Amino acid sequence: MAGFTVNTPSVHDLPAYLSPPEHILIDPEVLNAQLTGRVLSRLPGIPWSLSTDQRSGPRAQASGIDSGKQNSFILYLKHYKGRFLRYCPGTRNYNCCAYRIMHIGENCPLNCSYCILKAYFQDRIIKVWANQEDLFKELELKLRPGNRLFRAGTGEFTDSLALEPLTGYTGDLVQFLGNYPNVCLELKSKIINLSWIKKVSDPSRVLPAWSVNSQEIIKTQEQGSAGLEERMRAAAGCAAQGFRVCLHFDPIIHYPGWEKGYALAVETIFDYLRPENIAYLSLGSFRFMPELEKMLMRDESRATYIYNEFITGLDGKKRLFLPLRLKQFAFIAKHLKDKGLLDRHMYFCMESSYVWTKVLGYTPEDLGGLDRHLLRLSFDP
Ligand code: SF4
Repeated sequence: MAGFTVNTPSVHDLPAYLSPPEHILIDPEVLNAQLTGRVLSRLPGIPWSLSTDQRSGPRAQASGIDSGKQNSFILYLKHYKGRFLRYCPGTRNYNCCAYRIMHIGENCPLNCSYCILKAYFQDRIIKVWANQEDLFKELELKLRPGNRLFRAGTGEFTDSLALEPLTGYTGDLVQFLGNYPNVCLELKSKIINLSWIKKVSDPSRVLPAWSVNSQEIIKTQEQGSAGLEERMRAAAGCAAQGFRVCLHFDPIIHYPGWEKGYALAVETIFDYLRPENIAYLSLGSFRFMPELEKMLMRDESRATYIYNEFITGLDGKKRLFLPLRLKQFAFIAKHLKDKGLLDRHMYFCMESSYVWTKVLGYTPEDLGGLDRHLLRLSFDP
């Protein structure tokens, strides 16, 4: 075949944060799915097998494959039978943003010490719902009726973009949602992958989003993630292409020197972005379930922030003692306001109206409800 160059993809082309999986498990029903073909073509040479162990489940099957090496994982391409579009599992006890989840998979290849998914899943199986046609069928049914607006995202049970080099899932999703101007999709990530941008037909309906934290926390606790400057450079690149971005100061961690760290993080944001580039920004204090606390104490010597003054909240999760939380929120909010970000573009993730009033001087009810307020912000600059 003289004159032709065959580009064989190589697992060495993967970004630094993403090592190839040790093994790929595939549900027989999705063996011929488009997504499965794409993943296998992007991971030549990686062994795969069908998930045939229906009785004890893929976890048991995977345990026979997992070498237990650090950062290793099994990629499980699953025929998902549950609901793809769901509500965020917030709680009635605090003000929730009522984010709608487009569920595309579970677990994450990054290794943040505080990640709640460790306590949820307790394994290194990263699941991807490979039956995308069922996702699209469900979305067709649920997104069409009336002129109802939806603010949705994929970054609740996984990082929205971490597996994009393998799956191209977000590219498919934004392309599909191009026909649904009543949907605004938020893509929440800690890495840089902008490969999906070329498939977006209307940048006003996609909100690329990054978590932000101090350099110290990113460096010591968010293993594999992009640095803050890299994240903000990518955010600025999105803004230059007509997108607005969302930022999430979450989890805000109380550690010696946090004032300097978070002040610098705010500086870094505005080295790259103007306030009008930001659709909204959340502030969320570190919260954890008892199971995660045990895991952190047992496995994570880097997680020294766990030894602090925490109380058990109304949702059963532990959270930083209120005066310390208020101090951190007020400090960061003031720095953001000094840079020109308006109050109404900030919100608290899972906090009481008392905290809202103390820091911002009003409650979500004063805004007409947090869900409606964020819906307006996501559609209306
Ligand atoms: S990026 Fe998000 S989902 Fe992934 S390990 Fe970190 S906290 Fe967990």
